Amino acid sequence: MKRIFYLIVISISVIGGIQCCNSPDMKEAGFTIDKQSFGKLPDNSVSDLYTIKNPSGFTVQITNYGGIITSVIVPDREGKFADVVLGYDSIQGYLDSSPYFGAIIGRYGNRIAKGKFSIGENKFNLVKNNMGNHLHGGLIGFDKVLWEAEEFTTDSTAGLSLNYRSDDMEEGYPGTLSVKVTYTIRGDNSIQIEYQANTDKTTVVNLTNHSYFNLSGDCSTPITNHELWLDADRFLPVDSTLIPLGDLQVVNDTPFDFTKPTEIGLRINEDDLQILRGNGYDHCWVGNGWNDGALYHIASLSEKESGRVLDVFTTEPGIQFYTGNFLDSTIKGKGGIVYKQRCALCLETQHFPDSPNQPQFPSTILVPGQTYISETIYRFSINNQP
Ligand code: BGC
Repeated sequence: MKRIFYLIVISISVIGGIQCCNSPDMKEAGFTIDKQSFGKLPDNSVSDLYTIKNPSGFTVQITNYGGIITSVIVPDREGKFADVVLGYDSIQGYLDSSPYFGAIIGRYGNRIAKGKFSIGENKFNLVKNNMGNHLHGGLIGFDKVLWEAEEFTTDSTAGLSLNYRSDDMEEGYPGTLSVKVTYTIRGDNSIQIEYQANTDKTTVVNLTNHSYFNLSGDCSTPITNHELWLDADRFLPVDSTLIPLGDLQVVNDTPFDFTKPTEIGLRINEDDLQILRGNGYDHCWVGNGWNDGALYHIASLSEKESGRVLDVFTTEPGIQFYTGNFLDSTIKGKGGIVYKQRCALCLETQHFPDSPNQPQFPSTILVPGQTYISETIYRFSINNQP
């Protein structure tokens, strides 16, 4: 009799356990992905918007058009959630004009001088779309194409795998390039971005993400009050068209020294040739911790009022820190907010600009049979000390 009683008790608790795990409450406590249409492209194909949420409510929205991260919703010190990236409310904004808000950048992140480079004896001419140079993959870069998307969830993550096949000679680049970018949303409020590519002819590749951050969550306010730490003792000085001059300049005693957390606005208007050329910060810093393939901590950004902190980890040798200098109040973004100069900043992890023409820089050449691999993590957290 006693045994039967125990059996009943155990059975009830086991069934109870199973029911509990399948109950709607538990499901809500896990990772969720929701997919909805994001509207039609000019060729009538349809883009989708994926809303990915982790158990603590950290939410990231991504469209397969350009692999664009359209929003990142993060709590502040008080637990109040806000969107900390620039973008548009609908696909139309991205189609009309976008300075690469949240997008995957490729085949080459940042500039290639005069749109020209050579591989051995072969010379290539790329589309010139920026002051006589090639920028961010050309007129129709990876930010303006529809990617094939596959969503996934595991017990501890959820995400989106995006695939795109870039044709031989697309925007002037040699080789058919098969690209896979995987966005993984994790329990620690981080976005992991893994890039992979293969080619059938020797080519150049340098992929990145172009999110514009304002940690205050209010994109009508400037980011000049944010504090930045960069683990970088050197940066790449540029010419008047923002092409690296070729040397690595020591940041010591310059406005480019962020080796200790420093307010961004403190030296941004200094009478310094490099600041003037960039119209603010628009340069590539050289990560101290770069060790060809190993993930390292390269940047930490914080905003005192909200307590929000963004840490950046990467396998890339450089980081383009761009203070939204070319935003000029002509764009009305999400919620009708006018995006003024310096209302957001980018931390684009990448190989150095113009590497195909500067053999002293780490190589961006990809050969058939090799796989291009790169990883970056954007991790959000809170500093509880006001
Ligand atoms: C570049 C800037 C450019 C911005 C938007 C950044 O990566 O360095 O010069 O204006 O992207 O295109």
